[in-house]
Amino acid sequence: MENPHIPLTPETLVSRIGDTLVEKGLLSEPDLEHALHVQAEQRAHGKFTLLGQLLMDLNLVDRATLDDAITEQIINLRAALQNANVQLEKRVQQRTAELENALHQLTEMNQLRTNFVANVSHELRTPLTHIKGYLDLFNSGDLGPITAEQTQALSIMQRSSDRLEHLIEDLLMFSFAEKGQIPIRIQSINLIPVVTSLVNRTTARANELGVTLSLEIDPDLPQVQADPEMIGWVIQHLLDNSIKFIIQPGRVILQLLRDGTFLRVSVTDTGIGIPPNKLESIFNPFYQVDGSPTRKYGGTGLGLNLVEKIMDAHGSIIHVTSEEGKGSCFEFILPTVG
Ligand code: ADP
Repeated sequence: MENPHIPLTPETLVSRIGDTLVEKGLLSEPDLEHALHVQAEQRAHGKFTLLGQLLMDLNLVDRATLDDAITEQIINLRAALQNANVQLEKRVQQRTAELENALHQLTEMNQLRTNFVANVSHELRTPLTHIKGYLDLFNSGDLGPITAEQTQALSIMQRSSDRLEHLIEDLLMFSFAEKGQIPIRIQSINLIPVVTSLVNRTTARANELGVTLSLEIDPDLPQVQADPEMIGWVIQHLLDNSIKFIIQPGRVILQLLRDGTFLRVSVTDTGIGIPPNKLESIFNPFYQVDGSPTRKYGGTGLGLNLVEKIMDAHGSIIHVTSEEGKGSCFEFILPTVG
């Protein structure tokens, strides 16, 4: 096994000319030392003579002997270089095979993890559908009269199962995104009914938390090229975050403005804000500014990663500006139709 730390210079592959001559008995060691001494002295005076030439000048070897030794050395050097090349090639092949193997294992593990997330999410969905179905039956009174106390308990159960459903949807979307399979169907759409229904659905929860939620839309808003469900999901997630990270009493504004041939969608809040050095990390999967076990805010840290991927699938990017203690603004643009 060669030492990987010694560089492959000609000197490490074949011995120097002086040593070769000594090894072959064509020069004595004291003569070699004498010649090296003379060479060093000459060098000290600014003159440099090749060792072979010096040996001839000092009559220690004749030209024919020196030529033979140099020829042999060149042949040895060539053989040694060829050998080194073969070794090097073998090492490269070995390392490439190791790397390919490691990559294969990683891909397999990643696949397993993604499948696991997708399977677990599917498995969780079925019992949750039953729970939600029976909650609806209770709420509608179909299973008999319910007391005021029970109604209150049911509404807590309803909210919890909604949250669970939300988490499961995020996990499913994440596993789709990991496989590069976000199901996007771009079409010409009017965003107004989409955002109106989102705002209607979110206002009560926002008000409960002391947040004023308002919607500002440019008059005669053009249609956009987008997947309505996915863009709805993105806006809902941005609204949910802005309410979650609000400083009470706060304000959240969802704005849809025409910007040349684009439509600019923004969600602005008067919340806790994001430290400047965390502005990029918040888009990493599972990242949360406060990721401690005692953190105040719930969530998986997956949402913004999915938002980024969905916008990427639309050929757009999500942009954030924020000031700690003041608030944040998340925005993106979509191409308008016509
Ligand atoms: P989650 O909200 O589930 O933690 P996200 O991926 O949506 O995950 O967000 C990642 C992190 O970015 C959040 O945990 C929070 O620290 C930060 N963040 C996102 N939106 C806001 C916001 N509007 N105001 C302040 N911080 C935010």
